[in-house]
Amino acid sequence: MLNVVIFGAPGSGKGTQSERIVAKYGLNHISTGDVLRAEIKNGTELGKTAKGYIDQGQLIPDELMIDILASVFDSFGESKGVIFDGFPRTIAQAEALKKMLSERGQEVSVMLDLDVPEDELMTRLIKRGQDSGRADDNEETIKKRLQVYHSQTAPLIDWYKNEKKYRHIKGLGTMEGIFADICDAIESV
Ligand code: ATP
Ligand code: MG
Repeated sequence: MLNVVIFGAPGSGKGTQSERIVAKYGLNHISTGDVLRAEIKNGTELGKTAKGYIDQGQLIPDELMIDILASVFDSFGESKGVIFDGFPRTIAQAEALKKMLSERGQEVSVMLDLDVPEDELMTRLIKRGQDSGRADDNEETIKKRLQVYHSQTAPLIDWYKNEKKYRHIKGLGTMEGIFADICDAIESV
């Protein structure tokens, strides 16, 4: 299996590039943000819990996220591979992912870090909030999410460097140009 972690700050383009990766390599896609938004839309208990955290720009507790991730992963059955979009977001999640995959005879093939400057992230997310009305894409919540990214998520860069899975991707430029760099990184593994 080709198991790709697509990583980056909020607004770095994980979702956009994941769609292209799925189309080209035939992978299954897990976007934890999309899973949670679907639960909110359907008014489930999980959705109610998730909404409280998301509206505050906070992460959903690790134990909950890890259970959700394993059940989505297992629902794929036979698969060419999976793209993990928005997971892991903490060291505990990265360790849980490693354990879950190894229990299934698998591992992360590569971690792609979509690197985008902070002022550009802010601009993109404010625009996305205006266009799509996503409730957490407002200036106050975006600032909170960026703080959470720096304190809880960015430490995964060194964690994956240590695992020898890390690839830096310059996340500024055209969508095609960024995708070409992503394909080079995937094909180098
Ligand atoms: P991007 O714009 O690059 O897709 P994002 O950070 O804007 O990234 P999502 O990945 O959709 O958006 O996540 C939205 C929210 O869902 C997060 O702010 C967080 O509250 C919650 N969430 C998503 N994934 C996780 C996770 N792995 N652990 C904890 N909370 C999560
Ligand atoms: Mg997303």
